[in-house]
Parts: sequence; structure tokens; C-alpha cells
Amino acid sequence: MKLILLGAAGSGKGTLAKKITQDFGIPQISTGDLFRAIVKTESELGRKVKSLIDKGILVPDEITFEVLKDRLSQKDCKKGYILDGYPRTLAQAQLLDKLTKVDAVISVNLPFDELERRLVSRRQCAKCGDIDNVNYPGYTGKCRKCGEKLFQRDDDKPEAIKVRLEAYKKNNAPLVGFYGDKVFNVSSAGSPDETYAPVKTFLKKLEEKN
Ligand code: AMP
Repeated sequence: MKLILLGAAGSGKGTLAKKITQDFGIPQISTGDLFRAIVKTESELGRKVKSLIDKGILVPDEITFEVLKDRLSQKDCKKGYILDGYPRTLAQAQLLDKLTKVDAVISVNLPFDELERRLVSRRQCAKCGDIDNVNYPGYTGKCRKCGEKLFQRDDDKPEAIKVRLEAYKKNNAPLVGFYGDKVFNVSSAGSPDETYAPVKTFLKKLEEKN
């Protein structure tokens, strides 16, 4: 199964993708994670990408597509994948469409004031990448999975959040239009399990059909 997850930063795409990965055995391909790995290499591309990411600005479509294409050519993507954070523009969707057709697009929806609230209080583990939130019960500032200290990403600070959400507002409607009846809408206002339940039912049916 080849799937796309659409949704603003902070909508819970990553959490949903992890649940789908576990149940359906397809890898989560996050362009944000791919870029953060490139930043760590401290190459020229890494420095360029870091300066964009830190401000919440999208990386140019051509670079993003090349990075994605390279990842999708790896062996673990043969049986399918779930794209988390790609496409973010209509041009990216068109580039992907020339490479392959996807089976379904899950669009995760949350009101903007709630997105902002979740993003400013979001924290991440530097070691395993797990996400937590200072407002969640039992938050200690340490990773619940590996115990490492959590940090706030530079692009989860208010100025960058504004830039990211503005880009989403501009680009998402054309994307939803592009994928038309492949889109399955879900609200992420409830808990991660509540968000996942209708998605799981939808994907089970899709799997049976294919
Ligand atoms: P994310 O972790 O998905 O929120 O992505 C973090 C940052 O990586 C974004 O704010 C962008 O700067 C960059 N990025 C991730 N995916 C894309 C994409 N599909 N197109 C352009 N830039 C992206």
C-alpha cells in the first residue's frame, strides 16, 4: 500500500504514521526526518537545509523530491510506504505522480488555534526522535521511551510556527483537490487512538480490495 498523510505541523501525522507502520508493516517516510538527518552531516546541503528548516521555510521542491526519490528506491519501500510530510505543495504532488500512483491519502484535520497550542508545547527526544508535550499528563522533560532529555525544536518556536502554518494554509487545499476521491478525512481533536480507529478501518478495507 502506498499512502500519503496530509496535515499541518502539529496535527499528529507522525504519531498516526507510527501506528499505521506497526499494523500494516509499511515504513514511515518523513521528509522532515530525512532533512534533519542531512543537517547532521554538516555538508553544504545540510547547512542550506538547516537555515530553511530553522525558520520554518519549505525546502525547494526539486531538492525535496530528489531526497524522497532516493529514499523510495530503497528495498524496504518495495511493498509500499506511508509518506509523512510529502507532498507539501501541488508541484511536489505532480512530481510524485509521475514517479508512482498512491492508493490513498489520509488528511488529518485540526483547528489552527489547537495546532499552535500543540506546537509551542511540543518537545522531542534528541536520541530516538519520540515526541512529547509539556501539557500531557506525566510529562517530566525526559523521553518516555529512552530516558534522554527532551528539547524544543527551533522550528517549534512562535515565529517559525507562523511561517509553517501560513504555508500549510496556502498549499493544502490545492493538494486535497489534486487527490480528489482518494482522500480520507479524519479529525485529530481526540486522543491518538481515537484518531487512528477510523483510519485503521478504512485501511483494512483498502487492503482487502487490493
Ligand atoms: P516536519 O518535521 O515534517 O515538520 O518538517 C520540518 C521541516 O522540514 C519543514 O518545516 C520544512 O522546512 C522541511 N520539509 C519537510 N518536508 C518538506 C517538504 N515536503 N517540502 C519542503 N520542505 C519540507
